Amino acid sequence: MVELQQPKFVYMGGKLRLWEDAKLHVGCEALTRGLNVYEGIKGYWQSDGRFGIVMLRRHYERLRRSARLLYIPCEWTYQEYESATLELITQLVQPDRDMWARTTLFVVEGHWGEGTVADLVITAYHQDKQPPQAINLGVSTWRRSVDVALPARIKTGTNYQVGRLARIEGRARGCQDMVLLNQWGRVAETTGACILMVRDGVVYTPPATEGALESITLDVVEALANSMGIPFVRRPIDRTELLIADEMALCGTLAELPLVKSFEGQPMSESALILEALQTRLLNAVRGIDPHPAIELSLLPAPGVFKCREAAGSALSVPS
Ligand code: PMP
Repeated sequence: MVELQQPKFVYMGGKLRLWEDAKLHVGCEALTRGLNVYEGIKGYWQSDGRFGIVMLRRHYERLRRSARLLYIPCEWTYQEYESATLELITQLVQPDRDMWARTTLFVVEGHWGEGTVADLVITAYHQDKQPPQAINLGVSTWRRSVDVALPARIKTGTNYQVGRLARIEGRARGCQDMVLLNQWGRVAETTGACILMVRDGVVYTPPATEGALESITLDVVEALANSMGIPFVRRPIDRTELLIADEMALCGTLAELPLVKSFEGQPMSESALILEALQTRLLNAVRGIDPHPAIELSLLPAPGVFKCREAAGSALSVPS
């Protein structure tokens, strides 16, 4: 057994470096998809000129649940989490651009789970105010991992390895996202969002026990559907049901509610009246154009207070 040590040199980036200089950036893929739990959160400019972050407390609660399931200590209270997120976004936000932030609890110490120490790292990226584009969707040959291996309920970067494989597979087939089936061969979710299907006027989505993340946006969309008189049912979905669905869309914080324009290479019907109506209702609700009680916002101070400065090296597109 090799004990944990800190030898003088490490080989990295093509040369030997001092142990303390061998560093990876917190935004790099190896760390992003590594031992951590995280939340992707969304902030929108509101119709009254304020900037609001959507469902922040729900994200904090899910972060804590994920951390608990992976034995990662979370020392941050909700107030600390909220004020750190608001502080960063206040510094970065720009007029007319929304933001997507990633709040990640990284494991920085603790060999095989002994004496685990975590640090909260928050990064935030600009996003243009475009409604989501309709996508081509396929079914991946990769599967959602099972609850007794790497539970889908835990929002950890590690869980996204399979999504990475599925996206690589999907790109080769011209698909922007892919459905992951569960161990029973039924629909779980896509690589970064839940799935909505319409059959005979009813919106269906699989329950989390089918291998989907416990989605916050899904709860919001369900509440919107209820207010609009659209039947919304959570039940297992067979793969073949997606092939004969009347309408399909993804559902998630970053994805929002993009319609599916083709599935497994076959075009979907041009009219997706129900999901289009839900998409419009969702976007109007999160922007405060048509508020809904299901949506809680954490508001930044008035726009005049912002310094509105661009962070050096900030991303042009939003990584998920
Ligand atoms: N499933 C996966 C795999 C996701 O990454 C996401 C995005 N967080 C979702 C579902 C949707 O969850 P939420 O609505 O909470 O963003």
